[in-house]
Amino acid sequence: MADKINLFEYDRKMLESYFLNIGEKTFRAHQLLKWIYQYGIIDFESMTNLSYDLRTYLKENTLFKLPEIIDEKKSKDGTKKWLIKLDEKNSIETVFIPESDRGTLCISTQVGCALDCKFCSTAKQGFSRNLTTSEIIGQVWLANKTLGHFKNKKRIITNIVFMGMGEPLLNYNNVITSINLMLDDHCFGLSKRRITVSTSGIVPGIDRLKEDNKVSLAISLHASNDELRNNIVPINRSYPMSDLLSACKRYTEEKEDDPITIEYVMLKDINDSLQDAHNLVKCLHNIPSKVNLIPFNKFPEAHFESSDYGVINAFRDVLIKSGIFAITRKTRGDDIDAACGQLVGKFLAKSIKHQKNTMELI
Ligand code: SAH
Repeated sequence: MADKINLFEYDRKMLESYFLNIGEKTFRAHQLLKWIYQYGIIDFESMTNLSYDLRTYLKENTLFKLPEIIDEKKSKDGTKKWLIKLDEKNSIETVFIPESDRGTLCISTQVGCALDCKFCSTAKQGFSRNLTTSEIIGQVWLANKTLGHFKNKKRIITNIVFMGMGEPLLNYNNVITSINLMLDDHCFGLSKRRITVSTSGIVPGIDRLKEDNKVSLAISLHASNDELRNNIVPINRSYPMSDLLSACKRYTEEKEDDPITIEYVMLKDINDSLQDAHNLVKCLHNIPSKVNLIPFNKFPEAHFESSDYGVINAFRDVLIKSGIFAITRKTRGDDIDAACGQLVGKFLAKSIKHQKNTMELI
């Protein structure tokens, strides 16, 4: 018998064609998605608006397979971090950051990461594998369930950021399918503005995202010249800054487009001089953008220090005086190692493989 289909792998369009293929109407897909993503129900018996025959068919041919939360840590600032087991060898981390006016879920897209950014602890692990769609959307579903969203019907997760482990644009298809589910009114129904894909600069991926699903974009820039960026964000050797900044410009060419978030980790004596700030202003002069300065979060075996707050403020002032909106990102959850760049998950070193770091142009 063929393997059962995991329904968490399908977005609305895929599910509509699945139902058409088995002789059902497409609205069955909408009913099913509502059960899964709006009511949190993944037991066919409870899906009372599906006919008995259809439920029996689905039970025989499909299933709901999700990863499993195996640990939860709570920070004194309310941030929660879950360790999520994907399979016997691999686990990842997902973080929920509550604030007065929003709740942000930070999700992972790969086990480990192949990009080797020098200041990131995920990079130290190497790369194991891409997450499937069900493992990506599963983080959102499990977080909603754990936080009580399905019971209370109150939206607890208002924003989703692809800023956990891994490079989202190197797991493009699964990331896009999960974004479809986050946006779909039959599913989580979030607006494009409330979903942010953060990338270290995979230029063809940025252009594809612009065509497929123009959600908010964040760029991990961290340097204002190629020489430094080649060293601390090595993917820059494949996609240099001029190409990356042109892609940013293309991403924001429509009038109503949101500005791009530029992430800039503040590394003491590496990229934090006033000259660096002036160079950054030049890089961004024709790109609608806002800058997030991120104090470097330490982890064991890190060779960097964070810039002092005085230095960060002076850097920020240069940007602001030049007309660039800039803030210092508040560090959240660092007492439970849930802050930017501290997510590690777990996997067996012997499963580490190397991923091709460039993306084929389509
Ligand atoms: N691979 C993606 C998303 C994951 S990282 C990307 O590079 O954008 C999310 C953000 O945290 C990135 O801007 C990343 O550069 C930053 N980051 C990584 N390590 C960090 C650290 N130790 N301290 C502060 N920020 C860090």
